Amino acid sequence: MAAYPELKLCIAGEWRGRSGQPVYNPFDDGVIGELPHATRQDLDDALEAAEAGHRAWRRTAPAKRAQIMQRAAQLLRERADTIAEAITLEQGKPLGQAKIEVLRACDIIDWDAEEGRRAYGRVIPSEPGMRHIVLREPIGIVAGFSPWNFPISSPTRKVAGALAAGCAIILKASEETPAGAYFLVQAFIDAGVPKGALSLLFGVPGEISEYLIPQPGIRLVTFTGSVPVGKKLASLAGAYMKPAIMELGGHAPVIVCGDVDPVSTAATSALGKSRNAGQVCVSPTRFFVDDAIHDRFASAFGEKAAGVKIGNGLAADTQMGPLANPRRVEAMERLIADAVSRGAKVLAGGARVGNQGNLFPLTVLSDVPDDALAMQEEPFGPLALISRTQSIGQAIEKANSLPFGLAAYAFTNSAPNVEALSDGVEVGNLSINHLTASIAETPFGGVKDSGYGREGGSEGLACYTVTKNVSHLVA
Ligand code: NAD
Repeated sequence: MAAYPELKLCIAGEWRGRSGQPVYNPFDDGVIGELPHATRQDLDDALEAAEAGHRAWRRTAPAKRAQIMQRAAQLLRERADTIAEAITLEQGKPLGQAKIEVLRACDIIDWDAEEGRRAYGRVIPSEPGMRHIVLREPIGIVAGFSPWNFPISSPTRKVAGALAAGCAIILKASEETPAGAYFLVQAFIDAGVPKGALSLLFGVPGEISEYLIPQPGIRLVTFTGSVPVGKKLASLAGAYMKPAIMELGGHAPVIVCGDVDPVSTAATSALGKSRNAGQVCVSPTRFFVDDAIHDRFASAFGEKAAGVKIGNGLAADTQMGPLANPRRVEAMERLIADAVSRGAKVLAGGARVGNQGNLFPLTVLSDVPDDALAMQEEPFGPLALISRTQSIGQAIEKANSLPFGLAAYAFTNSAPNVEALSDGVEVGNLSINHLTASIAETPFGGVKDSGYGREGGSEGLACYTVTKNVSHLVA
C-alpha cells in the first residue's frame, strides 16, 4: 500500500497535536490516517506565533523571500511522487492528475515568489517640493480556509499569495484531504520560512473560523468553498471590517456554437468534465449547444463519456477516480433522478458503481429542462447537462441566468461570436476553444454569488497588500 503521512498541526514551526479524526480512502472507505484537532490553546499559540512570524517575514528582503519560496517549490518537486500518492489515497483522483496538481502548486509558488519582488508602489507628480509616494505594504496576518477538492493546489494559492506579499498566514485546511496541506507546509518550513509565518490547523471548521476571524491580529480572510459557507464567513469578516477573498461555487456554462466540429468538441468536453471527477469549481457543466450540431455533439459526448474508465486512482489505467465523499454521490443521485423525472435523457452513466467507496461514472444528460434542479444547483461531480439552443444570444442569456459567475467556456471559430461572448458572458474567467480556466500568471475569481477578490496573477497578489500614500513636502 502507498504511504500516507502521520498528520500533525504546525504551530510556531513545530509539529504537534494528538490524532483523533479518521481520514478515509474514498475508493474503498478504508481508514488511511488520523488527524489532530486544534484546541483553543493551539489557536492562541498560532495567533501569537503569527505576530512574531509576520514581523520577521515582512522585514525579510523580497529577494530573500522569493529565494525561500522557490526552495519550497523545489522541495515539493523532489517529493512530488510521494505527495501525489497521498493525494490520490485521500481524495481519489488518478495519480497522474495528483502529480499534475503538485507540479501546478510548484508553478504557482514560483510565479508568486518572483512577482512578490515586483510589489512596486509609485510616485505621483504634484506641486514643486511635494512628493506623493504610494507604498504597497503586506496587509498583515491572513486567515486562510481551503477545501477538499484540490488538497495541495488550493492551499498553495493562499499560502503562496500571502507569503509572496510579505504576510504571515494561518491555514485551516480540509480535514477530509489534509495530507496535501501537510506536505505543503512541511516544504515551506524545511525551506526556512520564519517560525510562525506559516501555521497549519485542522479541527471543527466553524469553531476555528468563528474564533480566528474576529481576532484583531487577523487582517484578511481568504476562503475557497461553497456559496453558503462563503456568505457566512464574508458576513463575519464584514462585521469585523476585514477584507476577504471569496472563491466560491460555479456552474460553468459551455456555449457550443454551430460552426465547430461537434465530435472533437465533444471529446474535449468529456475529458474536461472527467477531470477530478467534476469536483472542480470551474468544471464545465451546462452545455448550450447550437441546434445545427446538437444531435451529433450529444451522441459523441455520450460515447466518449461511456468510455472513461473509472476505478482506483492508484491503478495505471484509471481515467476517473471515485468521488471524494459520500455527500457527492448522494447529490449526483438526487440531481439525476430529478432531471430524469422532468424528461432528461441519460446518454451515459446515471448510477453509482458498487456499494463500497464512492465510484460514480461520468454521466451525460440531454434534453435537460431549465427548471431541473441540476440546471440551478452546482452538481460538483461528474455530471454534464446538454441543452439545445437556437442562437448565441439565447445561449448567453441562459449562461447568465444563474446567480453564479465563476468560469465559462465557448467553442466557436467566428470573430463576431468571440466578441459577443467576451462582452456578454458574466463571469470572472472566460475560455474560448479550450477548457483551462486559469494559470499561475492570470487572475482567477468570480462575480455575483461566485465571490470576489482574485487568486493568481498580479491582481491576486494585490489582494494581500494595502496601499499607503506618503506625501512629503520638502521644506
Ligand atoms: P460545505 O458547504 O459543507 O463545505 C465547503 C467547505 O467549507 C469545506 O472545505 C468545509 O470544510 C468548509 N467549511 C464548512 N463550514 C465552514 C466554516 N463555518 N468555517 C470555515 N470553513 C468551513 O460543502 P461540502 O459538502 O464540503 O462541499 C460541497 C460544496 O462546496 C460543493 O457543492 C461546492 O459548491 C462547494 N465547494 C467549492 C469548492 C471550490 O473550489 N470553490 C471547493 C469545495 C467545495
